[in-house]
Amino acid sequence: RYSTAAAVDDPIKSPVQVNYSQLLINGQFVDAVSGKTFTTLDPRTGDVIAHVAEGDSEDVDRAVSAARKAFDEGPWPKMAAYERSKILLKFADLLEKHNDEIAALETWDNGKPYEQAAQIEVPMFTRLFRYYAGWADKIHGLTVPADGAHHVQTLHEPIGVAGQIIPWNFPLLMFAWKVGPALACGNTIVLKTAEQTPLSALYAAKLLHEAGLPSGVLNVISGFGPTAGASLASHMEVDKLAFTGSTDTGKVVLQLAAKSNLKPVTLELGGKSPFIVCEDADVDKAVELAHFALFFNQGQCCCAGSRTYVHEKVYDEFLEKAKARALKRVVGDPFKGGIEQGPQVDSDQFEKILRYIRSGVESGATLETGGERLGTKGYYIQPTVFSNVKDDMLIAKDEIFGPVQSILKFDDLDEVIRRSNASRYGLAAGVFTQNIDTANTLTRALRVGSVWINCFDVFDAAIPFGGYKMSGHGREKGIYSLSNYLQVKAVVTPLKNP
Ligand code: ADP
Repeated sequence: RYSTAAAVDDPIKSPVQVNYSQLLINGQFVDAVSGKTFTTLDPRTGDVIAHVAEGDSEDVDRAVSAARKAFDEGPWPKMAAYERSKILLKFADLLEKHNDEIAALETWDNGKPYEQAAQIEVPMFTRLFRYYAGWADKIHGLTVPADGAHHVQTLHEPIGVAGQIIPWNFPLLMFAWKVGPALACGNTIVLKTAEQTPLSALYAAKLLHEAGLPSGVLNVISGFGPTAGASLASHMEVDKLAFTGSTDTGKVVLQLAAKSNLKPVTLELGGKSPFIVCEDADVDKAVELAHFALFFNQGQCCCAGSRTYVHEKVYDEFLEKAKARALKRVVGDPFKGGIEQGPQVDSDQFEKILRYIRSGVESGATLETGGERLGTKGYYIQPTVFSNVKDDMLIAKDEIFGPVQSILKFDDLDEVIRRSNASRYGLAAGVFTQNIDTANTLTRALRVGSVWINCFDVFDAAIPFGGYKMSGHGREKGIYSLSNYLQVKAVVTPLKNP
């Protein structure tokens, strides 16, 4: 029923050599102070890809000192903005040159289809850096008309040393969303990558140095959350924290930031996004987009359309087609051509998803298709569809982060608004309708940071992204992301001759 690795052509690309596996501190690749390493695994097999230096608090201290010095002594924050912009543009050129190698590294470490990495994600990564290069020399304050004889202006200054903690589902894109605006604004950085996917960030950071980034401006620490991540979040010399990951860990890092030096925190957390198919929707298109909204990236998207609400008038047709589409999904070795779905990132995620599938069955949802692991090796899961899902089931409330579509029935607009909003999350929503009034009503009523109407997962560099409620604080991408990395200084000068 599912295409397996054997059913498709030979690999279109093979894994590449891993050149960088140490920590990157002050422009140098170095071992961890402890000498420890950890393994990063190939999700296709569970085999070791590389032994990676394991950063801990002493390494974070070193990296923060390097970033502090690069900020306090320059040249980076004081460099002409145009010079910073040129370095980012040169980096983008190097990324284009190394596109396929970087994509292969990303696929190997994460399990995502190589075609997706090479044709969408690495080009998007490059595009994001060109976008932020464009901002670097367009950041400036205001002249403010104030009462009294004063000349008042605001200076938009970089905030200082930014600590950034990123997840494993889009290792490169999460790097770009954080590193791009921080560098454009003139900050220095200590980046903590996810322990599942440390490799592509090291490669990209090396290219940034090749493009002329001064030493100490971007430091990359591989390592675990409760050790390296927590040290960074609680560091007294870190001026700003940006985090993407689970809501539970978001709460932890926010507390660490508050308990240490009250550094401001941007959080991009979990989601349980409704995908609403109205009675007048183009059902075939809605089926395809709802499928994409949930299954894209093996279901490992914080904004995945993971509550598919379908109007009762089109429910039966939708369900039959959604099931047929899931059955056609091509799952297999992500290095092969035509693959839509690779393995989940690791055994923890794989087990967690299978537990949620069991919980769906036990709570009385109808398992329409899938529900089991695929093959005997690696972390592949069958594309899974549940119907008859009720709002109070765990599969309708929790973030599953896997290829499990939950289809729920609704019969009027007020009801679907209420049910969509009855979630602790508020990251995104999909709205499928041909009626402009319905679209407007839903758009304004849904308490979420992104609404995609008759589309889903449109991620342009200029479009802001972030959550309401427990999906996070702040916005990334677009003009809004800059304020995460700037301080505003008000400067007042009395006027002698007003
Ligand atoms: P997931 O469950 O999807 O792995 P997490 O929120 O645990 O999501 O991980 C996202 C990032 O947060 C990773 O880089 C991880 O290492 C880091 N992390 C996990 N726990 C902590 C922690 N206690 N303090 C700081 N960072 C953490």
